[in-house]
Amino acid sequence: MKQILWFRRDLRVRDNKILEKASNEVMPIFIFDKNILEKLDRDDKRVTFIYDAVLALKKSLETLGLDLYIFYDTPKNVFMNLKKDGFDEVLCSGDFDSYSQKRDKEINEILPLKRYLDSFLINPKRNLKKDETPYKVFTPFYKSLSWLSSSDKIGESNVNPDLKLYKYKSKNPTLEEIGFKRVELPGFLNQTPQNRLDNFKEKVEEYEKNRDIFYKDGTSNLGIDLRFGTISPRMIFNEIKKLDGKNSEVFIIQLFWREFYNYILFHFPKSESENWNGIEITWRENEEDFQKWCEGKTGVPIIDAAMRHFNKTGMMHNRLRMIVSSFLCKNLLIHWKKGEQYFAKKVT
Ligand SMILES: Cc1cc2nc3c(=O)[nH]c(=O)nc-3n(C[C@H](O)[C@H](O)[C@H](O)COP(=O)(O)OP(=O)(O)OC[C@H]3O[C@@H](n4cnc5c(N)ncnc54)[C@H](O)[C@@H]3O)c2cc1C
Repeated sequence: MKQILWFRRDLRVRDNKILEKASNEVMPIFIFDKNILEKLDRDDKRVTFIYDAVLALKKSLETLGLDLYIFYDTPKNVFMNLKKDGFDEVLCSGDFDSYSQKRDKEINEILPLKRYLDSFLINPKRNLKKDETPYKVFTPFYKSLSWLSSSDKIGESNVNPDLKLYKYKSKNPTLEEIGFKRVELPGFLNQTPQNRLDNFKEKVEEYEKNRDIFYKDGTSNLGIDLRFGTISPRMIFNEIKKLDGKNSEVFIIQLFWREFYNYILFHFPKSESENWNGIEITWRENEEDFQKWCEGKTGVPIIDAAMRHFNKTGMMHNRLRMIVSSFLCKNLLIHWKKGEQYFAKKVT
C-alpha cells in the first residue's frame, strides 16, 4: 500500500489521525493552495504563520524518519501528477466548509480520498436530536454532549511506528516563491503552540473572571492553533482537564461553541452566506460608512480603537468582535457578510 498523507488543518505530529491510520509506505505532503492564496493580500500574516508551522511540521516528521514534501500549486494539479507515481489512496483530515467539500470531491475523482475527523471533537453528522433533526440552539446541543464535556480525557491518536517514507525529488518553495513577504507576527505567535497552551494553563483559573475584559489578556490565544491544527482540540481539552481546576468548565464550553459553529455549518451550509433564521432585512448599501468602519474612522472611540488595532495586528478580543459587528449590522445597517469578508481577510 502506497499512501499520500495530505496535511491541511492538522499541522502537528502529536494526536494526528492520518499518522495513526496510515500504513506501509507514505508520502507526507502540504499544498500551498493557489486557489486560496491568490485571493489574499501579499502581506497576509496567516501565510507567514502557516509557512513557519509547515516547516516545524517537516522537522517533527524528520524526527520520525519521515519528511514533508511542500507544493505551491492547485490540489488538482498536484494529485494529477502524483497519480503517475502509482499511489493507492490519499489520507487527510475532514473539513466542513463549502470550498473544502468541493475541493475534496474533485480530488476523490483523481485518487481515492479517505477523510478522518481530526480538527473537531465530534462528527457533526452524528449528534442529532431524538427526532433525528439537528440542534439549532447551543445549550441543548452542549447538554447532549455532557458525556464528552464531563469526561476526564479524550483519546488521542498515536503515530504508527512502522511507517516508511516514500522518497520523492522536490524542492520546497520559499515564502517569496509562493508570492508572499514575511511579516512580523504579534509576540505570542512567535512562541511554540505548546508554550501558548502552557502559558494559558497558568491563568485558566481566572478565565471565567477575565475572559470578557478586553484590555486584560485573559483568554487562551489558541484560536489560530485550533484553526491550523498546530494543536488539536483534544490536546487542549486533556491538558486543561488534567489541571482538575474548579473554573475550567467555562473554557471547555468555548471549545464546544467552536464545535457548535462547525455543526451548524455542516447541517445548514447556507448559513455561510445567508441569514440562518431566514429573517429578511433591508440592508443599507453605504460604501463610505463601511470604509470608515474598516479603517476605524466612525467617530465612536471603542469601535475605532478595536478596528485600528485589528488592522495592525489581525487580532481582536471576542467582546470587541461582538461590539464592532453589532455596530456594523444594527447601527450602520450594513450586511454582516461584508463585515465577515473583511474579518476573513484580516483576522490572524
Ligand atoms: C463577530 C465575531 C467573529 C468571530 N470570528 C471568529 C473566527 O473567525 N474564528 C474563531 O475561531 N472564532 C471567532 N469568533 C469567536 C471568538 O471571538 C474567538 O474564537 C476568540 O476571540 C479567539 O480568542 P482565544 O483563542 O483567546 O479565545 P478563548 O476565549 O481562549 O477560547 C478558546 C477557543 O474556543 C473557541 N471559541 C471561543 N469563543 C468562541 C465563540 N464565541 N464561538 C466559537 N468558538 C469560540 C475558539 O476556537 C477559541 O480559540 C468570533 C466572534 C465574534 C463575535
